[in-house]
Order: sequence, then C-alpha cells, then structure tokens
Amino acid sequence: MTIKVRFAPSPTGRIHIGNARTAILNWLFARRRGGQFVLRFDDTDLERSKQEYADATAQDLAWLGIEPDETHYQSKRFALYDAAAEKLKTDGRLYPCYETPDELERKRKRQMARGRPPVYDRAALELSTDDRAKLEADGRTAHWRFKLNARTVGFDDLIRGTQTFDLAHVSDPVLVRADGTYLYTLPSVVDDMDMGITHIIRGEDHVTNAAVQVDLFEALGGSSPGFAHHSLLTGADGKGLSKRLGSLSIGGLRDDGYEAMTVVSHAALLGTSDAIAPHTKMDQLIETFDLGKLSRAPARFDETELAHLNARLLHELPYEAVAGRVQGDAAFWEAIRGNISMLSEAADWHDIVYGDISPVIAEADREFAEAAAAALPAGDLDETTWKTWTGGLKETTGRKGKGLFMPLRLALTGLDHGPELANLLPLIGRDKAEARLRGETA
Ligand code: GLU
Repeated sequence: MTIKVRFAPSPTGRIHIGNARTAILNWLFARRRGGQFVLRFDDTDLERSKQEYADATAQDLAWLGIEPDETHYQSKRFALYDAAAEKLKTDGRLYPCYETPDELERKRKRQMARGRPPVYDRAALELSTDDRAKLEADGRTAHWRFKLNARTVGFDDLIRGTQTFDLAHVSDPVLVRADGTYLYTLPSVVDDMDMGITHIIRGEDHVTNAAVQVDLFEALGGSSPGFAHHSLLTGADGKGLSKRLGSLSIGGLRDDGYEAMTVVSHAALLGTSDAIAPHTKMDQLIETFDLGKLSRAPARFDETELAHLNARLLHELPYEAVAGRVQGDAAFWEAIRGNISMLSEAADWHDIVYGDISPVIAEADREFAEAAAAALPAGDLDETTWKTWTGGLKETTGRKGKGLFMPLRLALTGLDHGPELANLLPLIGRDKAEARLRGETA
C-alpha cells in the first residue's frame, strides 16, 4: 500500500505554528514510509477563503521544506460533493430538516432539563411530503442531516490507541446548510476517498468528527483510512494557544529571523519522547520519525525555547546552509556562528570584522596596546598567530589572563565579548589589527 496523507488547511488566514506542526507530522510520516503528501485547501467557504492565503500557505510550507506531491482546491470540486449528496439522498441517508436555530436550542434545553443528552431527535424524519411542502411554502428552506447508523464505531488511532464511540450519543450532523453550502464533513470525506488518502493525521479537536466520518466513508461505499489525532499545543503556561496563534504565524517567525529547520525541529519533536534538539536537515528527522513517540498530553510551546533552539541550530549550521544569506566566507561564518542566536546578528559581526570600528582602549592600556601592535608576528596571520602573539606578550609585559586578553579584545573589536579572537584575528587582518591597537578607527 502506498501511503498518502493530506494537510487540509482552510485558506482564511496565515498558517501558524499549530497548523505547521500538523503539516510537518504528515510530511515526516509520508516521507518516512515512502509515501505522498497532498496539500488540500478546504476552501468551500467562498467568502472567507482567499487565494492570497492559499498562496502564502504554499510558500510557508515550501520555506519549511515541505513540497506537496499534489495540490487541490475544494472550491473546484463541488460536482463531486453534489454527486455524493445525491447518492446519500437516494439511499435515505441524507434527510431534509427545517428547524430554525432557535427551535433547535429549545429542543436542547428541554432534553437537558429532563437529564437527556442533547442529541437531535430526528423529528424531521417524520415529516410527510405535505408537511414539507407547507414548511417550504412558509419560506423555510431545508438543511440536510446525515442519518448516522445506530452503532459503535471503533478505530485504532496511531497516537491515542483504540477509540470507540457510540453514535447513538451523537446528533446526525448537518452536511448541507439551508443556503446549499457544504459544511466541512462531506467534502472532506469525499476527497479523502477520491484522493486515496490512507492516513488522516490532524489535531485531536477532530477526534469525534472521526467517528461520524467513519460512518460516512462507509455510507459512500468506501472504507475509512487510518487515523492519528495529535494533542494540541498550549502556551508555556499550559493554557490554550489559540489567542496567541496569530502572532505565531510561520511568516511571522520567518520575519523574526528564525531558521526554517529550527521551526521544523521544534514542531516535529515537541510532545514526543525524543529530546528537542536542533536538526539541520529534514532527512535526520525523517529517519527517526515515529508517530508512536507522540504523547497524548498537550504539547507546551514556549517561544523562549524556540529562540534557544535557534541559537543551538546556528552553532551547528554548516556554511552551505547560510551561503547567500550572510556576508562573508566560510571562515568568517565558522568564526562567528557560535556567538549568534539569530542569523541577522552575523551582519553585526561582519561590520566589526571588515568595517570600521572605534577601538576601545583604556588610558592604562595604551602602552600595552602599542606594544601589542608592534609585536604582531611577521607573515600571514592565521589561526596559530593568536597563541604565538599573546604568548610573546605574556613574557614581555608580564600580563596574563583577563589583563592580557581583554584590552586586546576591546581594541580589536570595540566589545568586551564575542567569538574566539584566534579565529577573528586572521579575518581582521594585519593592517586593521595594527591600526586598531594604535587606537585608530579602522
Ligand atoms: N480544514 C479542516 C481544518 O483545518 C481539516 C480537518 C481535517 O484534517 O480533516 O480543521
């Protein structure tokens, strides 16, 4: 069996870290098992869906390293949903109802008052053709409910284990609204069947939908795919993230300067039994991916952890991964990568190494700095220069430790912290180094 999964966002906004996690789990699952990944835009809500959001989603996924094997828009597939709805009507599984929201609410209240579960009572099934004609003459338009089978539905969720639902406790779901538009359920099931989806991996907010969908798959002559419902993200405080998700859009994280592989590593490993570690390549995550490692407990998302992870990732990132995105060559990158937590900080170090700085030299260090300038070893400066040079200065000046190194750092970089000077010195070069040690802007 060829594995086929889908990521099915509604293009009504930018995707955020929570959606991206679903996409990434689908992607890793598919790639781990040699399968295919479908990007399906659930855009049956024509008013709220926007092409610009679909385009932005595709771009965000590409940035994360996800290249869908197929892309579909539900808005182009209405004929399939219409045909499925007709079949269900013919089979007596899709029936017209006329209750207004107020009437339904009153029914629910009455049921609750009697201590009964607020399940739709199927009163509409009792309507005669005359009753319906009268309601329609009164200006009412039918919405359509799917008649669930009285049965217990069970499936083995790849994350949550065996799940069973008694459909007697679930209201027959509305599949088609009074204005003729489809709710999410029918198009989703029709597409999952038509596209040959083998596994549905999504958030656990959809787990009860799954029970209804299993019954619908079967009513349409199909069989249901495998399911995996992952827990949802919460904030660091354990509370829901929904209100803050807007500020955690993938585009926003990218603009903030996060590396794509930081976001991917974090999203893929959050809430799993694996330690959250930076992975510089998607392949490394694919190799060790296993849905069984996901915990059922909510996964806490903490942006400070993401920032730490970004720094750890940059410290390991080879030059090839940043070439074209930073100034400077491989030697520069290797010298400074351990000292940055966002890639943009590389530019600051580039200015310090290759631009002009105002050296910082305390009055008491002036003589020492002059002596250091004069003592720079002859020949090309390389990574051994620092040791030879400071070793000599130690002997001639009697300085050691901080008293020896800090004035050199302050003069050479203008700062009291930063990358190993042994690596920076050859990049700064003899002319600049000498000038800076003499206190000149260089
Ligand atoms: N469009 C639905 C959502 O974003 C898809 C749910 C599903 O994966 O079945 O919630």
